[in-house]
Amino acid sequence: MTKVTLIKGDGIGPEIAEATRRCIDATGAKIEWDIQEAGVDVMEKEGTPLPEATLQSLRKNGIGLKAPITTPVGTGFRSVNVHLRQALDLYACLRPCKSYKGVRSRYENIDLVVVRENTEDLYAGIEFEKGQKDTLELIDWINARSSRKIGPNAGISIKPISVEGTQRIVRFAFDYARKNGRKKVTSVHKANIMKFSDGLWLEVSRQVAKEYPDIEFEDRIVDNMCMQLVQKPELYDVIVMPNLYGDILSDLCAGLVGGLGVAPGANIGQKGAIFEATHGSAPKYKGQNKVNPAALILSGMLMLRHLGMNEQANRLEKAVEAVIAEGRDVTYDMKPERNDPTAVGTREMADAIIKKIGKNSGK
Ligand code: NAD
Repeated sequence: MTKVTLIKGDGIGPEIAEATRRCIDATGAKIEWDIQEAGVDVMEKEGTPLPEATLQSLRKNGIGLKAPITTPVGTGFRSVNVHLRQALDLYACLRPCKSYKGVRSRYENIDLVVVRENTEDLYAGIEFEKGQKDTLELIDWINARSSRKIGPNAGISIKPISVEGTQRIVRFAFDYARKNGRKKVTSVHKANIMKFSDGLWLEVSRQVAKEYPDIEFEDRIVDNMCMQLVQKPELYDVIVMPNLYGDILSDLCAGLVGGLGVAPGANIGQKGAIFEATHGSAPKYKGQNKVNPAALILSGMLMLRHLGMNEQANRLEKAVEAVIAEGRDVTYDMKPERNDPTAVGTREMADAIIKKIGKNSGK
């Protein structure tokens, strides 16, 4: 049995976590669930949205399936999601974007994988607020050394991109490509303008690519990449990006395949991995048995693949695909009209997926 930490989250989290657990169990995957709490509900009880027991469980098991968690506003707590990524050094964000028949979208046959660096870049959290003493000192320091001057009314965000950080994420993209039968990796940057951050990223990408002669490599400037993805998404396969471009382009790619309802994801590091949907905790739908569980179920499918349980992963993906393609036992967001009275609930959509899994496995 493989032990997996299941974080039920808050908002719609517990409902879709339960639906996902049932679907994964139905594949016959040998998983023992270690159920843990995080989010606003547990914060009321324990005074923290991320109890130490949850963190310990993740550290011990190394694999987590996480339902969404609300980021409490104005409490002084950091986002649990960001905290988890930092605490476990989950440096790679993986977001496959695949067209499923039956999902309304302007595009068909998209099959892209976005790999986003999670720890560096403008997201590193190194910021200097306008007018502060440190900021003014920093501005003076820069102005004494640079031909370009910064005025005293500027705020500053720092963009660190390191050789080590770039090596590990680009290797991750190539390893993923190899392991998953992908043909090409595209590295995205703005090296023509930011020579010492994105330029370094590009140079390291090219060096790492030489270690993988069996996988095609190319690079694209980020603005061109946006246009290419909208016009010719079929030309791309695995796309690897620094943090900020990855944040923006993963939403663009989710949009290509029909949005949040079917957008799974994972955050992966050397010591662990957490699988989660791209969408949030949609608190207004909490407890209504209403929302679509597919994105978290597909995140569970990615987890099974990560664990080498490919047969179970295939069975699960095929079952989700079939239920969506039929369009009958699906939640409101997958119906042509949002208030379609034939829409089913979260639980019932999971039931339909479980039924298909049974058929696929001959049960
Ligand atoms: P959200 O994704 O929770 O919801 C936006 C809208 O998308 C919802 O109102 C709903 O109409 C729709 N939606 C989302 N998930 C759906 C589903 N499974 N089925 C059907 N419709 C769905 O985004 P938000 O409202 O910006 O964020 C709510 C909270 O979630 C915030 O506190 C935010 O910080 C948090 N959040 C958490 C994560 C995470 O845990 N990884 C990710 C994003 C946002």
